[in-house]
Amino acid sequence: MNVEATDLPHDARATREKLDYAIEVRREAVLSMLSRERYALAASLLGLAVMAVSVAALPVRGLLGWFLALRLLAFVMTRWAASRLEKRIRARAEIGSAQLTLFLAMCATGASVALMLWPAPPGSPTAATATIQVVILVVVTLIAVTMAAFPGPRDGMLVSFWLVSSAVVALHPGRIDQVFLLVSLLFTIGVRVYASNTGQQIIRAAQTTVENKQLTEELAESLARSEFLSTRDPLTGLYNRRRLFDEGHARHLSSQVHLLMIDLDHFKSINDGFGHAAGDQVLVAAAQAVRRVLEPLAIRREQPVFRLGGEEFLVLLEGLDLAEAERVAEDVRLAIAAVGPSLGRYAGIPVTASIGLACWRPGENLGDALQRADLACYEAKDRGRNRVRCAA
Ligand code: GH3
Ligand code: MG
Ligand code: MG
Repeated sequence: MNVEATDLPHDARATREKLDYAIEVRREAVLSMLSRERYALAASLLGLAVMAVSVAALPVRGLLGWFLALRLLAFVMTRWAASRLEKRIRARAEIGSAQLTLFLAMCATGASVALMLWPAPPGSPTAATATIQVVILVVVTLIAVTMAAFPGPRDGMLVSFWLVSSAVVALHPGRIDQVFLLVSLLFTIGVRVYASNTGQQIIRAAQTTVENKQLTEELAESLARSEFLSTRDPLTGLYNRRRLFDEGHARHLSSQVHLLMIDLDHFKSINDGFGHAAGDQVLVAAAQAVRRVLEPLAIRREQPVFRLGGEEFLVLLEGLDLAEAERVAEDVRLAIAAVGPSLGRYAGIPVTASIGLACWRPGENLGDALQRADLACYEAKDRGRNRVRCAA
C-alpha cells in the first residue's frame, strides 16, 4: 500500500522521514563506494597481472597455478556482484539478494587472496615468492579501503582472508614462519581499523550530499510555492487581482474579450448566519462551479477566472460573441445557484450570484471596462439579484 507522508500522524511521519533519510544516506554511501571500486579496477588488474607473472616465473607451479585461477574467478565474481548491486540500487529496487551475493563474492575474494600464500615449491626464486606476498598485502588493503563503508562484505573479506591464511600456515608447519601468523593477524586488524575510519568519513560525506539534495528540493518547492502565491488567491486557487492587471491587457490585444463581474448575493448574511468557515467553503465551491462551466471553452483557449477580493470574481471570456458570452454568463449563474445543496454539512445555505456582463471595447482601458461590468452587476442586484445584466 502506498501511504502518502502527509496522511500519517506526526510521530509516524517523523519516523518515516528518519528512515527515508537513513536509506538515502546508505544508498549514497554505497554508490560512492561502488564508483571507487570501479576506479580501483586498474590497480586490481595490475595486482592480478603481477601475481600471474610471478607464478609463471616459478619453475614448478604446483597448486599455486590453480589458486591463481581461483583468484581470477573470485575477481570476476566480485565485479559481477558489485555491478548487479549498483544497478539495483540505482533502480531503487530491493537489494537483499544482491547484497548477499556481494558478501559471498567478497568472502571468496579474501579466501582466494589468502590461498596465494601457499608456499611455492622448494627452489623457487625468492623474488617471485616475495613479490606475491607483497601483492597480497597491497590487494587486501586496497579492497578493504574500497569497501570501507560496507561493513558486511569488508569484514567478510578480512575474516576469510585471516582464517584461510592461518589454515595455510597451519598446514605447513616449519615451511612458513610462525611469526607470519601473528603479523598477518595484526595486519588484518590494522587494515580493519583504517578501513572503518575511512568508512565513517564516506558516511559523513554521504550525509552531507543527501542533506544538500534535500535542501535544494525544499528550496525549489518553496520557490514554486511563492511563485504560485504571487499570482493566485490561496483560498480558491483562482488568479488574483495582481495577475489581472499584470496580464489582462495582453489578452485584450489578441482577441475579443467579454468581462463577467460575479458578486455573490447576501454573502455577509452567510458569514453571519453560518460562520466564516461556511463562508469560505461557499467561496471555494462557487469558484469551482465557475471553473467547471468554463472547462469546455478552455480547450480552445484559457478562460481565466480571478478572485478580485471578498466574494467578487471576474472572468475574461475570450473569443466569444455577445450571444455566446450571455449564454456562458447564464450557465455560470445557474451553476452557482446549484452550489447550495452540494455543501455537505452546510447544505441548505442559499447561494446565488448577480452577474454583470460587459464587452471590453477596442482601445478601452481595463479599469473602464471593469467599471461598466461592475455597474451592470449593481443593476442585477437592484433588479432582485440572482440574475445577469448586460452593460450598455
Ligand atoms: P450583496 O448581495 O449586496 O453583494 O451583499 P453581500 O453581503 O454579499 O456584500 P457585502 O459587501 O456587504 O459583504 C461581503 C462580505 O464578504 C463581507 C466580508 O466579511 C465577507 N468576506 C470578504 N472576504 C471573505 C473571505 O475570504 N471569507 C469569508 N468567509 N468572508 C469574506
Ligand atoms: Mg461585493
Ligand atoms: Mg455580495
